[in-house]
Amino acid sequence: MIWKSLKMIHYLNKKYIPFVVLGKILAVSQVYVNIIMGSVILDMVINRQAVPNIMRLVIIMVISSALLIVGWWGIENILRVMEGELVSKMRQAIVEHCMTLDYEVLERKETLEMIQRAGDSINSGGGIRNFYNNLTSFIEYLITIITSVVVLIPLFVPVTKKVSGLTGFLNGWYSGLILVCIILVSVVFRYLLARRRSRIEQKQFEKNIDLNREFGYYFNIIFRYRTGKDIRLYRMQDKILNGLSENAKGIENNGKWMMKGVRPDSIWKNVVNYILLLSTYVYVGLKVICQLISLGNVMKYVTAITRMSDSLGSIMESYNALHIRGKYVSYYYDFLNIKNEKYEGTLPLEKRDDNEYLLEFKDVSFRYPNQKDMVLSHVSMKFTVGEKMAIVGPNGAGKSTFIKLLCRLYDPTEGEILLNGIDIKLYDYEEYMKIFSIVFQDYQLFSFPLAENVAASIEYDSEKVKCSLIEAGFEKQLEKFDDGIHTNLYQMKEKGIEISGGEAQKIALARALYKDAAIVILDEPTSALDPVSEFEIYKRFDEMVQGKTSIYISHRMSSCRFCNRILVFDKGRIVQSGSHEQLMSQTDKLYAKLWEAQAKYYQ
Ligand code: ADP
Repeated sequence: MIWKSLKMIHYLNKKYIPFVVLGKILAVSQVYVNIIMGSVILDMVINRQAVPNIMRLVIIMVISSALLIVGWWGIENILRVMEGELVSKMRQAIVEHCMTLDYEVLERKETLEMIQRAGDSINSGGGIRNFYNNLTSFIEYLITIITSVVVLIPLFVPVTKKVSGLTGFLNGWYSGLILVCIILVSVVFRYLLARRRSRIEQKQFEKNIDLNREFGYYFNIIFRYRTGKDIRLYRMQDKILNGLSENAKGIENNGKWMMKGVRPDSIWKNVVNYILLLSTYVYVGLKVICQLISLGNVMKYVTAITRMSDSLGSIMESYNALHIRGKYVSYYYDFLNIKNEKYEGTLPLEKRDDNEYLLEFKDVSFRYPNQKDMVLSHVSMKFTVGEKMAIVGPNGAGKSTFIKLLCRLYDPTEGEILLNGIDIKLYDYEEYMKIFSIVFQDYQLFSFPLAENVAASIEYDSEKVKCSLIEAGFEKQLEKFDDGIHTNLYQMKEKGIEISGGEAQKIALARALYKDAAIVILDEPTSALDPVSEFEIYKRFDEMVQGKTSIYISHRMSSCRFCNRILVFDKGRIVQSGSHEQLMSQTDKLYAKLWEAQAKYYQ
């Protein structure tokens, strides 16, 4: 996973890793320049050498140290910028991938979880930023170890003069072996501690995934003014605050659980470091006493040994951490690797000026993913070109689902839907969707300018936008807007305006009109409109959809009257089909009952 992550970083920015290496070489060199030259200077002072010579060396040491610091500082700054860019590129990739996912795949719980994990891997404490930190630390430790080994070689090389007794023992390479063993034990110990810590952290990350998503949800509803109304009306503040505090408690408990697991580590680490430091001083000090090395070298060797053992321990920790962070990066990969399962056809769609698009449902049944029961069963019907059709039926009868299948948000579980005799799956999806203008019940307007909402694009034909709005009955409201069709909707942007449910519905209708497609589908299009507006819109729509195929789903039975054909859905089946008069004549059936039930209120 580490290798994969490195490859990804290198792919996103070829300069990042070389810059990290260069920066760390400068940082480590700066430390060692001071240590090595410092010990030489100390020896020169002890040996009472000429002051100008000592001063020259001090100046060289200060200048080279300053240059290295400036170089390192410059590179560090460049790296921070690069990391920011890398994170935004990764975030961008998540957004882009999300946009290309099939609706059916997107709404799955697993997908939502993966999006959360991928987002967490970039944002939270366990994320990719830590991978960068671990990577730079890893490289720093590696360079420190290599430099320390080079600096330490003379300490273990026997001096040429003949010596015996304790001096002889210390002069032999085997005495150094004792120190090496102590270093190794401390390194292995730290490695084991680090591995344990990484496992605990990994568990904490996993435990927090659901809690983070839940927190995101609360955050969203608390700060969105559009949810604010219901929260206040139904006094839901306590419930939400309660949920939020439960959530915070969960996250806090996970944090406590982790801290409890890793708390003793620092004590153990200090004990081991102390033993190592003591042994180093004893070893190096004895060598000085036995005159095997000069006093000036004490600092150099002690620092080199402690830095090396420290780096050896830390490099293990870093490796473990990189491994774990690599796993987080793998969540990111997992998300980007989610594939759409919908068959993607390539057939081009003939653009017909006569709008002769023949659609047919052939024995279609459908069950939502992970559900037991069919929501539609054995639905067969043909659309007649240019026909105005209404779909009615009780709530949950499957009317919206029928439309969702038609626009391929889902594919049928059984049976097929044909366009001009060919399965709709075989058509290029984008081309296929061009023949539909659909307004769903839960249509969405966005906090963009009005014109962009209508055109569903940043590029638009202003005249056509205005015409569509006027045709959808929005003329009077438009006149009141200072910025006309450039007015921002909602309050995300400057001077954004609030609109009523009925106004929003008219804008959604205008969007359908702007698209000017061959088949117009309106799912409960006028539920938020007052009766006068509703009547006007139906009248206008009637004129506008001349020559087009149109489908209306509506609760208001009265609005179905002007349709050529009415389909009555019940429990996922088409139970009746015909004109209003035909259906009314079947007095014992569902349509007549629904009609009577509503008519009562109008009498
Ligand atoms: P209608 O438009 O006639 O009111 P729908 O087509 O919206 O009915 O819904 C039909 C049934 O399918 C309902 O029982 C509803 O709960 C269920 N349903 C709708 N959407 C989903 C979904 N995304 N996942 C699972 N079940 C769903």
